[in-house]
Amino acid sequence: MTIRTRVLVAGAGPVGAVAAYRLAEMGIDTILLEAAPDCPEDMRASTFHPPSLEMMEQLGIAEALIADGLKAPLYQYRNRRSGSIIELDLGEIADVTNHPYRLQCEQYKLARMLATKLDSHPHGQLVFNRRVLSYEQDGDGVTVNVEGPIAIETYRADYLIAADGANSTVRKWTGVEFEGFTWPERFLTLSTAYPVEEHFTRLAQVNYIADAEEWCVLLRVPTLWRVLVPTPENEPDERLLSDAYKDRVFSGLLGVQEELRTYHRTLYRVHQRVAKSFHHGRVLLAGDSAHLNNPLGGFGMNSGIHDAWNLTEKLREILLDGGDAEALLARYDRQRRTVASEFVQAQTIQNKQAMEGGSSDGKSDQERRMDALVADPVLRRNYMLRQAMFTSLEREAEID
Ligand SMILES: Cc1cc2nc3c(=O)[nH]c(=O)nc-3n(C[C@H](O)[C@H](O)[C@H](O)COP(=O)(O)OP(=O)(O)OC[C@H]3O[C@@H](n4cnc5c(N)ncnc54)[C@H](O)[C@@H]3O)c2cc1C
Repeated sequence: MTIRTRVLVAGAGPVGAVAAYRLAEMGIDTILLEAAPDCPEDMRASTFHPPSLEMMEQLGIAEALIADGLKAPLYQYRNRRSGSIIELDLGEIADVTNHPYRLQCEQYKLARMLATKLDSHPHGQLVFNRRVLSYEQDGDGVTVNVEGPIAIETYRADYLIAADGANSTVRKWTGVEFEGFTWPERFLTLSTAYPVEEHFTRLAQVNYIADAEEWCVLLRVPTLWRVLVPTPENEPDERLLSDAYKDRVFSGLLGVQEELRTYHRTLYRVHQRVAKSFHHGRVLLAGDSAHLNNPLGGFGMNSGIHDAWNLTEKLREILLDGGDAEALLARYDRQRRTVASEFVQAQTIQNKQAMEGGSSDGKSDQERRMDALVADPVLRRNYMLRQAMFTSLEREAEID
């Protein structure tokens, strides 16, 4: 038996969940297939930038998401050795957004919230324990083979959205090049309920702490602090995930000798890659299946949500208004791939370099540049608009 729908979405991460729910809200029958038994609870994205919150407002879930997170209007750049602090206040861009803050909220909360709403939607369906295996497409649609708990199932749709993450099976089937590189070091994230803020003077909820030897990101989510550090190359996983290594990170950062309890300890390999095309006939790539970047600045999930927003608009024009599919989907590819390459890749690489530039003897060139930038109201505002991703969406709108 073949299960028929208009749009099939592979992967119920934040990007797939936003795409599927928005399509259902537009009145387009959509099925969301997720390989896992639930939207996976992981400790990756925790920052929602203002434009993404505006999109969530249009989906009618901003209030619930905000209630599940923490508003962080301030973020800081610190030098780990000198202790210098530069603080930026998103309140200064309150004239362009009614969400002048970063929302600190774990990504699975968004995915679960939307997945639940989708499943009770008259145009939506969510199916867990369904792994997309392969597809074939023709002039009329795409046939998708899916591994279920007891059998291989067949789905048929007008379009397939690949939101199946970094190791996307669908992307691999397209055969597209995933151009870019992988950083040699991996990133370790640790989360703890310990009151980290007591060891710093006026710590914000989002803090980037530069250091030439071991930079660090300190982020607050509602119940925990999250610590992100790079790890030395070629160290075995067991050592980096050991209690001894965890204690070394916390004693170096906080100067405490006591053993801190962690709730998550995860090692991530970090890539900078963009697929050569996001548009493969009736198969469209979005989110991590289309592009990967380091997490400094919190752009991965947010840019994936922006892909989903752009793509669902194009599908609405095609499926409801009879728009020219080839032209619209080619524009999706041009707009979102250009933003991924020109903006997200460039900015995250620059953000990582800034973290590595902390110097112990006097100010680094990077710090001097930041001092000059924050002292100038126009440069400071432009910087905040760029880091909040407004600039990337303006760039997208310029591309025909
Ligand atoms: C340490 C760290 C911190 C980060 N912090 C931020 C941040 O603060 N802000 C930010 O914007 N980004 C951040 N990111 C990046 C962010 O986590 C990703 O960009 C985001 O998860 C991408 O969402 P997605 O829905 O495309 O993919 P995923 O979240 O990976 O979801 C893919 C889903 O597809 C499912 N799946 C996989 N294969 C199949 C299949 N064959 N069939 C069906 N389902 C399948 C998976 O189970 C999963 O549920 C961070 C990343 C890391 C590593």
